Amino acid sequence: MTISLSPAARAFLARSPLKLLIGGEWAPASSGRTFTSFSPSDGRGLAELALAGADDVDRAVSAARRAYESGWARMLPAEREALMRRFGDLIRKHARELAELESLDNGKPIRQTQAIDALVAARQVYHFAGWPGKIHGLTPSVSIPEHFVYTRREPLGVVAIIIPWNYPLIHSMQKMAPALACGNAVIIKPAQLASLAVLRLGELAQEAGFPPGVINILTGRGSVVGQALAEHPGIDKIQITGSTEVGRSVIRASAGNLKRLALELGNKAPNIIFEDADLKTAIPAAFWAAFGGSGQSCVAGARLFVHASIYDEVLAGLLEMTKSVRIGHALDPLTELGPIVDETQTKTILRYIESGLEQGATLLCGGKRMMEGDYARGFFIEPTIFTHVRDDMIISREEIFGPVLPVYRFESEEEVIARANDSDYGLAAGVWTRDIARAHRVAAAIRSGVVWVNTYDMFDPAAPFGGFKGSGYGRDNGWEVIEAYTEVKSVWIHLS
Ligand code: NAP
Ligand code: MG
Repeated sequence: MTISLSPAARAFLARSPLKLLIGGEWAPASSGRTFTSFSPSDGRGLAELALAGADDVDRAVSAARRAYESGWARMLPAEREALMRRFGDLIRKHARELAELESLDNGKPIRQTQAIDALVAARQVYHFAGWPGKIHGLTPSVSIPEHFVYTRREPLGVVAIIIPWNYPLIHSMQKMAPALACGNAVIIKPAQLASLAVLRLGELAQEAGFPPGVINILTGRGSVVGQALAEHPGIDKIQITGSTEVGRSVIRASAGNLKRLALELGNKAPNIIFEDADLKTAIPAAFWAAFGGSGQSCVAGARLFVHASIYDEVLAGLLEMTKSVRIGHALDPLTELGPIVDETQTKTILRYIESGLEQGATLLCGGKRMMEGDYARGFFIEPTIFTHVRDDMIISREEIFGPVLPVYRFESEEEVIARANDSDYGLAAGVWTRDIARAHRVAAAIRSGVVWVNTYDMFDPAAPFGGFKGSGYGRDNGWEVIEAYTEVKSVWIHLS
């Protein structure tokens, strides 16, 4: 196994203990406390990070408010665009190092973080760098004599962004870039389990030249920092990506000052393969949809519905892939599936596997933590497939967030639509068919924010992304996110 870390990533880790970014300065937590970030590939400690508390949240909110009011919101659109482009250029330039930091920290394979995550992060910034000069209001046709009305889209103020550990580079830029483009100041709270790449982005933002306080970063516990952000009267909007349970707690905590909220929460995506699908594409796609990122993705194709006439063929294809997929250290360039993010999550996944067995599902393959050789130092679980799974079993209903795939057999379109929609969640879904009429019918019938037809896991900053039902509300990307990071104001002018 060849594991190489660039000098730049090594130099970053050597700056441990890593600090908070508040008002343009890197500062320790006011308590002086720190926590350790670990590599889930081998259990190695990577760096010490500042453990922020509620008073650090106060400091960050004041700094962000000052930055917002002292000129950021009024900066000329062309200047803000140029600043964001410089930031995008720096992310591209440091893509390898950012990818290494994310892979070390959350265990996602380097081939993925380098080719996708780091570049998508830059793409988000470039896309939204094009927006500041294009945000505009309207002139509504009112029926009141002698009056002229126009609308303005104004920034919200201070936005707090709370993200999980599975996509720190993409999530942070997907949320921050549009918020900044609209003229908001931001405070970002990455997950304790994967904050490194986000801290490095903070350094790059400073290098790009963002005014102090426009971008602040607080590392620490969700139950402390996240909660304090959600409650804080000085914050205008919370954008949180995480579990549905934490989303509910943020809704409650945010009630004090009626914060704007955007919630991107849990999911249990149905992926449906019809009998006329191109199986050469659909089988590998279903495998990667379920097991990519070791299943730790909010859009994981976690419920695979296969038409009865092709069920055995699909299952055999999936089983074959589980045998040849390369599982290993996230920094090994050959690794296709990395570890589970930590021990707690590993235990949770193993409990779900146990519950599948107890409730009578059939284990086709996998099911165990890998403990041979180097695997024992990290947190690896074999790709696991269950058959004979009932729709009411726990493994059918709850988000496992691990490499566990229940496969279901169906007979008709009507039946599979009803079963796919029988979920508390509705973030994403997949449909595989060569029948164009069926593709559109099913896409319209599925209750979820995204439906991929003959493709999966596709994202672009131009296409809105977000959930129906228990997967939350609000949208990333598209014009929708510009609306979501601005308030609209109607200005009435008496004309005589
Ligand atoms: P999580 O436990 O909900 O954590 C998400 C973030 O919220 C972390 O930064 C966490 O901090 C913070 N947090 C925890 N408690 C909080 C509180 N009381 N108030 C405010 N913030 C709090 O989720 P996770 O286990 O890290 O991530 C997995 C979940 O995220 C899954 O359910 C997955 O579906 C969802 N997810 C959704 C999307 C989407 O786009 N819809 C994308 C990715 C993931 P700490 O962890 O540092 O304590
Ligand atoms: Mg980590």
